Amino acid sequence: MLGQMQDWPLLIHKIIDFAGAQHGRQEVVSRLIEGPIHRTTYGAVRGRALQVAQRLARDGIKLGDRVATLAWNTSRHLEAWYGITGIGAIYHTVNPRLFPEQIAWIVNHAEDRMIFTDLTFLPILEALQDKLPTIERYVVLTDGAHMPATKLRNAVAYEDWLSEADGDFRWAEFDERTAAGLCYTSGTTGNPKGVLYSHRSNVLHSLIASGLDALPLAPSTSCMPVVPMFHANSWGLAFSCPMKGAKMVMPGAKLDGASIYELLETEKVDFTAAVPTVWLMLLGYLQKEQKKLTTLKLVVIGGSACPPAMIRAFEQDYGVEVRHAWGMTEMSPIGSVAYIKPEARGETYEEVLKVKMKQGYAPFGVEMRIVDDDNKELPWDGKRFGRLKVAGPAVAQSYFKGEGGDILDENGFFDTGDVATIDEQGYMQITDRAKDVIKSGGEWISSIDIENFAVGHPDVAEAAVIGIAHPKWDERPLLIVVPKEGKTPTPEDLLDFLKPRIAKWWMPDDMQLVTEIPHTATGKINKLKLREAFKDYKLPTA
Ligand code: ADP
Repeated sequence: MLGQMQDWPLLIHKIIDFAGAQHGRQEVVSRLIEGPIHRTTYGAVRGRALQVAQRLARDGIKLGDRVATLAWNTSRHLEAWYGITGIGAIYHTVNPRLFPEQIAWIVNHAEDRMIFTDLTFLPILEALQDKLPTIERYVVLTDGAHMPATKLRNAVAYEDWLSEADGDFRWAEFDERTAAGLCYTSGTTGNPKGVLYSHRSNVLHSLIASGLDALPLAPSTSCMPVVPMFHANSWGLAFSCPMKGAKMVMPGAKLDGASIYELLETEKVDFTAAVPTVWLMLLGYLQKEQKKLTTLKLVVIGGSACPPAMIRAFEQDYGVEVRHAWGMTEMSPIGSVAYIKPEARGETYEEVLKVKMKQGYAPFGVEMRIVDDDNKELPWDGKRFGRLKVAGPAVAQSYFKGEGGDILDENGFFDTGDVATIDEQGYMQITDRAKDVIKSGGEWISSIDIENFAVGHPDVAEAAVIGIAHPKWDERPLLIVVPKEGKTPTPEDLLDFLKPRIAKWWMPDDMQLVTEIPHTATGKINKLKLREAFKDYKLPTA
């Protein structure tokens, strides 16, 4: 017997309709690419999203068409998303930090018909446009007054283009499983793969991710999504903020410490989220300029491991709660958040910090397991580590155009490519990406653990650990360090510092100083590049 309740489709435009109706005067504040701070409301964003939808339809964009955005977090980018999805077309977020050839590859693979671009990226697109045959029109996210001369095909200033529509338009009607968004994973091996979100998965993800135990939002929240909309949907905030009526503060192109600090303070931001490299810049700025954070209460940090020194700095020096989170593009992206359950509240700060260093537990809507090489489930004892697998309504089932084939196992679980432990209380901790794990004498060494401790050394700005071939042990760890300005720590300094903190057989065999560690387009240490750079290096112990 079926239930007799309404089949109310989970469609993205219902979110902006709700925000317009119930929180129509709530603010969306942006640092525009042209410079000034711009203020609008959910009521106005909804109206302009309808104009976008109407104008796109007039340009011939239809259900299922892909429209790319190469843009920072601003209200224009936000209304473009709602407009695109409101006619059943698909927003395709392109990460501008990718190499130009990669951008061309994914735009062609997606067969995008239009690109909405910020002024910042015109030079990239002008150099690429001959390689982008599917693009019929470039919409530059600016007004007529700031529109530069450009040779881009059918280029038009967004405000001029938009003004040709009056917004007297109705959202299209379609199934909630209709595709809504497309985001490619960086694909450190092989070609990038497209993750194709649906209306249903994005709406459910917003409900899952905005709970009190995750990235909590309410009409009283002033939220700054520093994490870009092109990095896995800004971790869902572009949907969950309007869904919960939270104020949005969009930082635009300026992500340096001073600019972020200014917006945090002037817009009374109490909640923000981004990857560790952004917070490294902010903390550096705060320390140098002797500034205090007067309104910020909570920061969610994920995308790569958050070192304990960073958690401690935010919490103890600035009184800001840190929640460590983990996820991936394939998960929309939230997979776990280190909210502290009552049973995990330790007696001392050091006990709590141990839990906060973990990547957290899976909220309702995400199922998680760790398995051995035979796909046998491993116990949640906080010790055994295995491949981390996940399932849920906002987890990918396959990649766009079937790339990569069948990606679920016989139980319907997706292999994240991460290696992790899960403890008795359900807290998961990432030890490594499977391809970065260091195999020494048949055992695994966690590079993340060593890195976490190494960055706690006062002379270290950033640290990475990679496996180097060793005749006896197969592989041994090499510690690579970017020193703080004016410091030159020796291998002995670092190894003495690590000795009491990690197991003897995990101790790096050597340390090398470098001026810079390469990062991927989503801000992670690029271990592939590091391994390449050190391919001729020989360990002193070899
Ligand atoms: P991409 O793979 O395109 O660089 P994603 O954001 O999808 O971008 O990357 C997901 C991966 O990032 C995860 O599989 C995991 O390896 C890593 N990651 C994300 N959050 C954390 C975290 N808190 N700690 C450690 N690793 C993390």
